[in-house]
Amino acid sequence: NASRLLGKTVLITGASAGIGAATAVLFAKAGSNLILLARRADALQAVANAAAIAHKESGVQSGGKIASIQLDVSDKAQIAALWDKVPADLRNVDILVNNAGFVKGVERVGDIASEDIETMFATNVLGLISLTQLLVKDFKARNAGHVINLGSVAGREPYPGGSIYCATKHAVRAFSGALLRELYNTPIRVTEIQPGLVETEFSIVRFRGDKSAADKVYDGLVPLTAQDIAEEIVWAASRPPHVNLAEVFILPVAQA
Ligand code: NDP
Repeated sequence: NASRLLGKTVLITGASAGIGAATAVLFAKAGSNLILLARRADALQAVANAAAIAHKESGVQSGGKIASIQLDVSDKAQIAALWDKVPADLRNVDILVNNAGFVKGVERVGDIASEDIETMFATNVLGLISLTQLLVKDFKARNAGHVINLGSVAGREPYPGGSIYCATKHAVRAFSGALLRELYNTPIRVTEIQPGLVETEFSIVRFRGDKSAADKVYDGLVPLTAQDIAEEIVWAASRPPHVNLAEVFILPVAQA
């Protein structure tokens, strides 16, 4: 029931594009407040504007406060200074969506640049962990909250050419599972969303800007959309308080 999201404050990382952007708009429609984080300030502002319009058009009275904050989740110092940048009326976050993540390259193990290995782990794993630590401290103090992490099919099944990305997403799955179990019998919920192929900028980043290689990934199947995943995230967040959707594994019908 979307009314459970009225007036909630949702922090979304990687909100400037793809799944994060679609999720921001859906939460805004449902009457939530938003803290949107990403590195690209212009793209983030465009999403904030779209979310504000969606909120207005929905006619919902609650929510609609939106803060966009330029932040690199792989930078520990920026995460530590986050609260300085969040307006006072948005500091009680109810839902954290750890969505920022990427894969760069499809090289075999011996050929991967160490810089790519480090930035993938710093973003997909360490950034997610740092933000979770920051927010869970708060959730525990208020005895409420929901952590929603973006894992992947790559966190369930490793594949050649994806060793580092798969390792980061396996780490997300392990971390999410352990956190869920640590928080048993508290009102704090933990959900891991594990999508298969979703058509976003993700594939373009993966193939280092080569759009035709990026598009080939979707040959012969209809990929998921960012909207499909956003709907799962909002669904998980809007379940009754006693329901914890621990894992959501979602694939296009033609992905084995
Ligand atoms: P996009 O490339 O469309 O969006 C990724 C977002 O993450 C962007 O908003 C980007 O913003 C942000 N981001 C990347 N690095 C950082 C950083 N260091 N700090 C802050 N923000 C960052 O990808 P998707 O929307 O498809 O991906 C979202 C999540 O879903 C990722 O975790 C991905 O691994 C996961 N996923 C995606 C799948 C797919 O097929 N698309 C499949 C399974 C999982 P900016 O550049 O402005 O910082």
